[in-house]
Amino acid sequence: ASYWSHVPAAPPDSILGIASLYRKDPEKNKLNLSVGAYRDDHGNPTVLRVVRKVEQEPASDHEYIPMAGIPSFCQAAAELILGGKAKSIIEKRVVTVQSLSGTGALRVGAEFLYQFYHPTATTEKPHVYIPRPSWGNHRKVFQSAGLKVAEYRYFDSSTCDVDGKGLIEDLKNIPCHSIIVLHACAHNPTGADPSEELWKQILQVVIQKHHLVFFDSAYQGFASGDLEKDAFAVRMFEQSGIEMLVAQSFAKNMGLYGERVGALSFVCKDSSVVSCVQSQLETIIRSMYSSPPANGARIASRILNDPVLLGEWKQELLEMSGRIQEMRKMLYEELVSRKTPGNWSHITKQIGMFSFTGLNVEQVRYLREKYHIYMTEDGRASMAGLSRETVSMFADGIHDAVV
Ligand code: PMP
Repeated sequence: ASYWSHVPAAPPDSILGIASLYRKDPEKNKLNLSVGAYRDDHGNPTVLRVVRKVEQEPASDHEYIPMAGIPSFCQAAAELILGGKAKSIIEKRVVTVQSLSGTGALRVGAEFLYQFYHPTATTEKPHVYIPRPSWGNHRKVFQSAGLKVAEYRYFDSSTCDVDGKGLIEDLKNIPCHSIIVLHACAHNPTGADPSEELWKQILQVVIQKHHLVFFDSAYQGFASGDLEKDAFAVRMFEQSGIEMLVAQSFAKNMGLYGERVGALSFVCKDSSVVSCVQSQLETIIRSMYSSPPANGARIASRILNDPVLLGEWKQELLEMSGRIQEMRKMLYEELVSRKTPGNWSHITKQIGMFSFTGLNVEQVRYLREKYHIYMTEDGRASMAGLSRETVSMFADGIHDAVV
């Protein structure tokens, strides 16, 4: 008998499972709104023009890069999210390592927290609090590093908006020094972000309760089209002088999904801790995968460090985010013109790749079976998966499902 005959099948990933149902569906006019990747108006994957351009430049070699990644990439990534003139950068209080996209940044950060975050003398380790709901992988990433995961209230399904009151209450009531995961912008899966006012309140509670913030930034520039605007919350927290962690992904905003380009930054209170933190991060990386892949980070570094390429990238960010916003507007208008029961204003108010439509599981299944439209069962639909041609079909389906 095999050593593995007792191994049970793992439950399928809720998002990738839907994608696999979609692939098996023989219907020609099917529509996949489950995946988190940008598509153009013809439903095709997009390679950014600026990325294509940089890809023409031959790599000088295929040597290993350092454990912490390419220094020019790390520096530029930190400046992109914190701001080039951030006090923490000028004061050399930031440690940044390259990571295997956003997931890898979270995972290495989680490992570091497990090993070194002991803010009090008690034996109980701080828990990680993620929003309810959150990106499905958050819980697993932190748990697999040995951390305990709990949730704070985030979304109010009756208004399809952030539950500001519940969120603040929860952050106040949980133990001091808890680890708080915050989506930097374009919250996944809800598309609902805190207002500036609410961000200020969150920061106040974080300071009062000495919580440790771990920002997850997966959509900078991709959400609003403006790199600065999408970094608002992270920069406000940085300016307050607190210590925090930031995970960055370049999957969506540079379209480098499979290249696994990301960064993990520790914003520290004091530059004296920087070299030890850096050395321990390198030790963690060494034991997990030795060193990160070179190709994607080389591309990103070229773009981030060259003013002309940077300008071209910003233009393409506007195009991608603009198309998504147009899809939101069209979908909203199609539903209003059908007089579909319900208030659909959240579709245009929400931001980023996804809309939390408010459809329930039965309605989502109905759409899948009758219309061959695939979305995750929580009612999340990728606005990037829609096109001018398919938006009316989606509106027909929603209308039919809710009346
Ligand atoms: N965090 C959030 C909130 C996300 O939506 C994603 C992408 N789906 C990620 C992290 C990480 O993705 P990746 O590892 O591909 O960068």
